[in-house]
Amino acid sequence: MNSITAVGSHESSLLNKDQQFVWHPYSSLTAPIPAYEVVSAQGVNLHLADGTVLIDGMASWWCAIHGYNHPVLNDAAKNQIDKMSHVMFGGITHAPAVNLCEKLVQITPQGLDKVFLSDSGSVAVEVAIKMAFQYWISKGQSNKNKLLSLRNGYHGDTFAAMSVCDPVTGMHHMFDQVVAKQLFAPAPQIGVHESWDDRDIAEFEQIISTAKDELAAVILEPIVQGAGGMRFYSPHYLKAVRTLCDQHNVLLIADEIATGFGRSGKLFACDWAQISPDIMCLGKAITGGYMTLAATLCSEEVSRGICEGEAGCFMHGPTFMGNPLACSVANASIDLLLSSDWQANIRRIETTLEHHLARFVTLDTVAETRVLGAIGVIEMHSPVNLAEIQQHFVAEGVWVRPFGKLVYVMPPYISTDAELGALIAGIYSVLCKL
Ligand SMILES: *Cc1c(COP(=O)(O)O)cnc(C)c1O
Repeated sequence: MNSITAVGSHESSLLNKDQQFVWHPYSSLTAPIPAYEVVSAQGVNLHLADGTVLIDGMASWWCAIHGYNHPVLNDAAKNQIDKMSHVMFGGITHAPAVNLCEKLVQITPQGLDKVFLSDSGSVAVEVAIKMAFQYWISKGQSNKNKLLSLRNGYHGDTFAAMSVCDPVTGMHHMFDQVVAKQLFAPAPQIGVHESWDDRDIAEFEQIISTAKDELAAVILEPIVQGAGGMRFYSPHYLKAVRTLCDQHNVLLIADEIATGFGRSGKLFACDWAQISPDIMCLGKAITGGYMTLAATLCSEEVSRGICEGEAGCFMHGPTFMGNPLACSVANASIDLLLSSDWQANIRRIETTLEHHLARFVTLDTVAETRVLGAIGVIEMHSPVNLAEIQQHFVAEGVWVRPFGKLVYVMPPYISTDAELGALIAGIYSVLCKL
């Protein structure tokens, strides 16, 4: 009895302090929605303070591809921590960073030969955009200082990244007056496996050919548009973008922060179209969800252009660049992924998600379901009430975090068919009562 009271009061005081002191992502401190206290996580399960065990459908926002508390990743972190956790990267190098950069060059599309490490996805996007701008400045074409992006895109929360998020669904429209004005093409409409029609790229083509002299780069999420709409589109579109960028002398930045490391069924979503961007951003799953780390890769041409310019170097250098602990875990996570039959595994998850999501279309509240790789999306007719629906999901034993009309999962790759079945059944029980 006593211990139960003690646990209860610990919990309530922790949650009180949480609401008093702590910002959460996109959260209010005046009308806070209570958060759930997680005390540990293991495999695909999140363990809450009250003893509830949840099946995780989010992989902590695309990151925890091997699940939680993985012995191989734990060992990588422990081994590195006994050598050094961090050391500055200016004038100093170390094996974890060099090995990681070599690995990334080897596994990413051909032509991406140089790697800039940073701490988070948004920063990797800032770095990519700065690379593109500095490249053209170095070439004496500083008039090329605009970006072309796609509607329904999401690229992060920092200022340059905000400027290329969808002006409406990208969550940053209120900052219209303070973010740089960029150009936007309509979101692609043709699906991954649907037959291609050139009309889908017509408006993009018109914009890029008109604006080419002021365009530094096109930036897009290849094949999967994430937080701006959870939409999948045709590899033909991506191929056409690559061709048009070459034709009009505009760099192509592929933001693979969500799609990288197998999530779409290919190791990188660019592989669907067999194209190489000039610059690529990686993040999220790069350390298997253990540490915050991101990378921006670029071609030899971009790096040479930048370094042969007036500045003589790329003007960027984060304090925690190349953090050895993060790099060590990233190396272990990538090796773990590549040593598995990840393609067959993602196909298994895709088939299982398709199987279980099929019956959702019979619900009146559901507009559509779609699956690509280890991503499952249920699009509702109207936005869900997050605060309310979150409680119902937890009561069903699943961790899902919808936004707007979208209820979606991108589970850890280690999820078994039974766990996926239970996850989707939990979601179904909640949605069929709406
Ligand atoms: C999450 C995400 C980002 C931003 O990454 P953070 O680590 O949250 O800064 C950028 N682009 C895409 C496609 C993302 O999914």
